[in-house]
Amino acid sequence: MKIRITLLLAIIFTVALNGQQRKTIDPVISAMHTISSHDLLEWVAIQCDDKYAGRLTGTPEYQACAEWLASMFEGWGLTPAGDNGTWFQWFDIPYTLVYHDCGVSLHLSAGKNGSVIKDYKYVTEYMPGSTSGNGEVTAEVVYAGYGITAPELGYDDYAGIDVRGKIILIEPEAPVSPNAGAEKFTPWYHHSFHQTKLLNAVKHGAAGMLYNYGPIANPNNAWDGNFIYVHAGNAVTEDMFAGTGKDHQQVLASIREKLKPASFITGKKVTLKMSTQHFPDGRGSSIIGLLKGNDPELSKEVIIIGAHLDHMGRCYEIIPGANDNASAVAVMMGVAKALTENNIQLKRSVLFLAFGAEEQGIVGSKHYLENPYFPLNRSILLNMDGVGIGHSIGANAGLNYPELWKFVEEANDKYVHRPLNTNFFSNLGRPRLDAARFMTAGVPALSFYTSGSVNYYHVPGDNLDIIKPEIMEDMAKLLFLTVVNMGNYEGDIIK
Ligand SMILES: [Zn+2]
Repeated sequence: MKIRITLLLAIIFTVALNGQQRKTIDPVISAMHTISSHDLLEWVAIQCDDKYAGRLTGTPEYQACAEWLASMFEGWGLTPAGDNGTWFQWFDIPYTLVYHDCGVSLHLSAGKNGSVIKDYKYVTEYMPGSTSGNGEVTAEVVYAGYGITAPELGYDDYAGIDVRGKIILIEPEAPVSPNAGAEKFTPWYHHSFHQTKLLNAVKHGAAGMLYNYGPIANPNNAWDGNFIYVHAGNAVTEDMFAGTGKDHQQVLASIREKLKPASFITGKKVTLKMSTQHFPDGRGSSIIGLLKGNDPELSKEVIIIGAHLDHMGRCYEIIPGANDNASAVAVMMGVAKALTENNIQLKRSVLFLAFGAEEQGIVGSKHYLENPYFPLNRSILLNMDGVGIGHSIGANAGLNYPELWKFVEEANDKYVHRPLNTNFFSNLGRPRLDAARFMTAGVPALSFYTSGSVNYYHVPGDNLDIIKPEIMEDMAKLLFLTVVNMGNYEGDIIK
């Protein structure tokens, strides 16, 4: 009996000692470890499924994907924070579908025997214009520089050149780059928009356009039913200059340097064929879920986790947009799930905001800023755009908002250990990110991305094959810790 008791005591002592030595795991850290690359990859795959047809805002397929996301938010116990107590914040968004039957070809003369046709290759040499009119046009090509008419600046690419019934070849942006600084670029700002250029081409009577942009898809443009255009790559542009005695890069450099147009008739003839359908009455939505804070005062402040749900839709083929931006929506979902399923309590509120129509002119975020759920002066945004590739994490605007950035750095140094970099984001004159819209509206914002492996941008190659699930998992862990620490911080995070 005595031996038995001694043995029992020994066991109890050993167990107690072990219990003392073992430190309890912080519930926040253990919640962070529930974030799994397996979930994240699956959510990317679901968004990229053909049934959502590339998630072009305005389409029924986009809205079906939005419903799926809302049902996930609902399952995790978030509160709907869209229009009238629903998950959705609605806005008008016209859209265009581009079908298979498209082409670009060059008519080459073959002496007395007429001509031969050179067909350009879809994706590598051209992409259809995502908001092109439907039909076919064959015409001579006129090089029209930047396609800008700016009398107030004494600049007109169309001066002294007749483009009626012709196909123009024009450049994106403006002769003055946004990097030249706000003072120099601002007068050109309006003219640098795709929309301004397209409508200016229509106004001058052009029948079509080779836009030296890409070749990538981009549904952020105006629409004119009679105007057909494509995004041409270098191979097409170089062919238009071939035999003219002019060098494309030299012509461009000279326009920029002298701010003097250099338009000319190329002597080339091309055919543009586009098969499109326009839907002027499209309606789209952003999806909004709320996790209310538990502090009576601090819960009136909000950390918005943002990522656009939409992509290119159908541009000849369906473009899945795995990195841009299914990856970021998946990471947002990972954070939402880890917070809710582990019952992590935060003093501040968190809004999960999946924007619609980022790709069609950053429309969803503009609409939210006009109809915010929390006052904008009590909001900050942690946005993500393209967080599914590579091994490094970057964020725009950390140096603009050091009081936010320190939370990110701290979480990375302690737990995530990824190469991490940030910048001072100064190019607000040309918002091309949801985050830039927020910053322009006075809302502090960081915009995350990842980099360091092959990427395909706005082409069908942006699919599951390029996704690195492990960087998504680390991005989600970094964001999770950042949100928890910011959410419970007693001091000011909003200056
Ligand atoms: Zn994007």
